[in-house]
Amino acid sequence: MEDIVIIGAGPCGLSAAIELQRAGFRPLIIEKNVVVHSISQYPVYMSFFSTPELLEIGGYPFTTPNEKPTRLEALNYYRNVAQRAGVRIRPYETVTAAVKEADGLFRVDNVNRFGEAVTTRCRGVVVATGYFDHPNLLGIPGEDLPNVTHFYREAHPYTGMRVCIIGGNNSAVDAAMDLLKVGAEVTVVYRGEDYSPNIKPWVRPLFESAVSKGRIRMLFRSRVEAISLRSVTVRSPEGAQTLDNDFVLALTGFRSSRKFLSDSGVRIHGEWELPEFNPDTMETNVPGLYLAGVVAAGRDANEIFIETGRDHGKRIAKHLQEQK
Ligand code: FAD
Repeated sequence: MEDIVIIGAGPCGLSAAIELQRAGFRPLIIEKNVVVHSISQYPVYMSFFSTPELLEIGGYPFTTPNEKPTRLEALNYYRNVAQRAGVRIRPYETVTAAVKEADGLFRVDNVNRFGEAVTTRCRGVVVATGYFDHPNLLGIPGEDLPNVTHFYREAHPYTGMRVCIIGGNNSAVDAAMDLLKVGAEVTVVYRGEDYSPNIKPWVRPLFESAVSKGRIRMLFRSRVEAISLRSVTVRSPEGAQTLDNDFVLALTGFRSSRKFLSDSGVRIHGEWELPEFNPDTMETNVPGLYLAGVVAAGRDANEIFIETGRDHGKRIAKHLQEQK
């Protein structure tokens, strides 16, 4: 029998674990991969847009000689914090269900790395499963071909190739700038009218300059309608055109799955698919079931990120402590 089970060892799940420990609980994180797995899957050479102090959890200082921390520094930071704080994590176990039973306790079902079913009973559950497993799919023919990915890692595999990037926000812009360095021929297909206002202000002038010099082909008000191994079909206001192409990076963002929450009894509202919870306590409409991190956002997952989700754990710990 466990006290509180936290599902997911991202920055927000870890932060919740530390705050709960400080409030006198003995939380257990169940993580389907390894600590901060999502960040380990981010572009290999990326830097965060946040300054390090805004990514700190549990009051542990995050220092770096760089203005913005790199992915590697963040992995190092969160890993060390988890170990220093003595956070209990069961890695490589995927939670498949968290259900409140008639006796008021939760049953958390999961599958470990040996394929064995494991059941854990607990008094409370914090869902901190993030969004990175669920890219926004385009639903177009060819999206599942092997030359298409929704996860950009690094430029080298695209050396000298024709690459179509779908999207116009930071992930798309960063990938496009990266690909220039390896001599890729880059076309960015973006449905927006103009450059996205979300582009990091220190990157935007460089990107605009690359576009105006013709080093990157930028198609605004355009959508990719179909993908094949050799081409993409793009619909623009001028009509449809088929462009010779080798690889497609569909960098259209992520969205938390609602299925896990609704299966647990959490009500989901409106076209933005907002889960029902009290923002002061992070408790959902299922008493004892809490949300931490980006999973609490609706379809616009960008409204919660590490900076804004890292204090969810404090609210949860305060609420649980008040009920002790
Ligand atoms: P995650 O970090 O996604 O962690 C969720 C964890 O849950 C994962 O480890 C996953 O494996 C696990 N999990 C999922 N399902 C299950 C399951 N069924 N069972 C068990 N475990 C499960 N934010 C900032 O504040 N500043 C930045 O500069 C910044 N830069 C970014 C750059 C990029 C390229 C991207 C993609 C995002 C960036 N973000 C930034 C956003 C930020 O990384 C996310 O908002 C953040 O990771 C959310 O943390 P989380 O703990 O909610 O979820």
